[in-house]
Amino acid sequence: AVAARAVDVWKVYGSGEAQVVALRGVSMEVAAGRFTAIMGPSGSGKSTLMHCLAGLDAVTRGEVHIGDTKLTGLGDAGLTKLRREQVGFIFQQFNLLPTLTAEENILLPLAIAGRKPDREWFRTVIDTVGLGDRLGHRPSQLSGGQQQRVACARALVSRPEVVFADEPTGNLDSRSGAEVLSFLRSSVREHGQTIVMVTHDPTAASYADRVVFLADGRIVNELTEPTPQKVL
Ligand code: ADP
Ligand code: ADP
Repeated sequence: AVAARAVDVWKVYGSGEAQVVALRGVSMEVAAGRFTAIMGPSGSGKSTLMHCLAGLDAVTRGEVHIGDTKLTGLGDAGLTKLRREQVGFIFQQFNLLPTLTAEENILLPLAIAGRKPDREWFRTVIDTVGLGDRLGHRPSQLSGGQQQRVACARALVSRPEVVFADEPTGNLDSRSGAEVLSFLRSSVREHGQTIVMVTHDPTAASYADRVVFLADGRIVNELTEPTPQKVL
């Protein structure tokens, strides 16, 4: 099954002399239950592609689908609903609310969507992410790695169609980064989660099942079953 799809996507920022063509006809399918990484040099269009796939940014031309939903033409209300119900996000900067505990942060997207947590799934996520005794802590009482694991749990708790992660290990030391990536990979392997991760770190990309390489707004290469040596 295909969890997300881009069909000949173009993205142009600005106009006239300030115009930047960030994506030049990108087509890709994100397989359900797989871990896909998007790599490429700075400015190659990775963040733009992820934002277009996730419905955070409108495409200039082409089509994007999440599951059975065609994003193009959904409108703002439709996109907001899609972001709340069908996708999860993990950011480089964790983006946790400082006044809430870890547990409250994890449950916040469900609360906003007016949905009840599935307690069994919540326990599974918490156990896998290894936060058991720290659920009552606020972000300032947690290490960076722990904060990012809270953010991962928050992205997964609603069982979204796709989780998008933008440089999730960019602010972490290598050991904390490895813990976060192991957790993401096990959510794919053991629970069939679909993940799309943007990274410029070959070690991070080696945790994925597939790596798509962007350069100058185009897909220029791809690897399946990457090993660290091949990604480098
Ligand atoms: P990457 O994530 O690979 O670093 P981006 O997707 O952020 O690349 O950027 C691709 C290109 O689009 C770059 O030239 C960048 O400067 C440009 N760009 C990104 N966002 C905007 C924006 N909001 N307005 C204008 N140009 C943008
Ligand atoms: P990253 O590539 O790590 O996402 P950037 O610094 O490229 O970070 O972009 C940060 C934010 O600024 C993004 O929301 C992006 O869309 C926007 N942006 C990037 N390049 C430009 C630009 N040339 N003009 C305006 N906004 C931009």
